Amino acid sequence: MRLKSVFRRARPFLRTVRMAFRSRAVILLYHRVAAPQADPLLLCASPAHFEQHLALIQKEYTPLSLADLAAAHAAGRIPDRAVVITFDDGYADNLHAAAPILRRYGARATVFVAGACLEGKPFFYDEMEEILLLAPRLPRTLRITIDGAARAWDLADWARLPKTADETYWKWNLESASDPTPRHRCYRELFGLLRGASAATRSRAIAALRKAAAIGAASPGAKRWMTRAEIRRAAKEGTLEFGAHTRNHPALNKLAIEDQREEIVSGKRMLESAAGMPVRAFAYPYGSPWDVSPTTLRLAREAGFCAACANTPAPVDSESDLFWLPRCLVRDWDGEEFARRLSAFFEPRADIPPQG
Ligand SMILES: [Zn+2]
Repeated sequence: MRLKSVFRRARPFLRTVRMAFRSRAVILLYHRVAAPQADPLLLCASPAHFEQHLALIQKEYTPLSLADLAAAHAAGRIPDRAVVITFDDGYADNLHAAAPILRRYGARATVFVAGACLEGKPFFYDEMEEILLLAPRLPRTLRITIDGAARAWDLADWARLPKTADETYWKWNLESASDPTPRHRCYRELFGLLRGASAATRSRAIAALRKAAAIGAASPGAKRWMTRAEIRRAAKEGTLEFGAHTRNHPALNKLAIEDQREEIVSGKRMLESAAGMPVRAFAYPYGSPWDVSPTTLRLAREAGFCAACANTPAPVDSESDLFWLPRCLVRDWDGEEFARRLSAFFEPRADIPPQG
């Protein structure tokens, strides 16, 4: 009896010891390799920084592809200090800027592509950036109606973008504590309104914004998606593997079950037809435990994927759920900071499961 209670009390300690000695891998989550003037969602790592990240991974860790990690997990043998590189969304710079660097360091990456990108539809927040942060001229008062509710933003002197806009203007992002101009405030508020909205509401709101701002269709510019032809060529070449990321990039748990299934399955089919090969991996859009539900995980399993990635900072070990693989978001860190952060990502940490 006594011995039993000693064991019971020792259980949390033994669990911690087991966790500390288990082999662990880290899946990194990037979006873009580029150095643009504005990056309000902190999606970019500069090519120079990305190269520093790869040099460190090659020197001190074991680069692994996501498919190899999933196979190692299934076999119960995760190589220690393994690092997997993933990109979300399907920006063309993954192919033109990141892939040559990956090749130089003998690494591979998985790119999760949203189906809408294959149809050439830009993300609402990229359009917001083009209009609200980059347009030289906007009306003094920006009025749009979203789902029947009228909204207005007074841009005051910032209706015209001054040539002298400085670091405070360009370095602003959604994690900044304050909004230096009305343009930034408008971006923040509109992003909050549209993040959880349906694809139809988002596209109506962006069309209304374009009309109010008197700015025509999205400019093709440098920030573009990989085309279907580029995806097919890259899938054959092999440095980049491709995974699905739904069709319209919604926060899945905001949708009815049938709509979630349709988003997941149609995104997979669209990508398979572009890549010309089966797609076995999936990443939940936004990917926090508050953007999916346990039902979403079941739907991903039923859709025929082998693994699905989240966006929660924790390492992967033999007890991780293959349909809730944690990933650690990477920012535009220099080599030194990346080294510090990557070593911290390997610390054992309990992952937060999706909320019910
Ligand atoms: Zn995404």
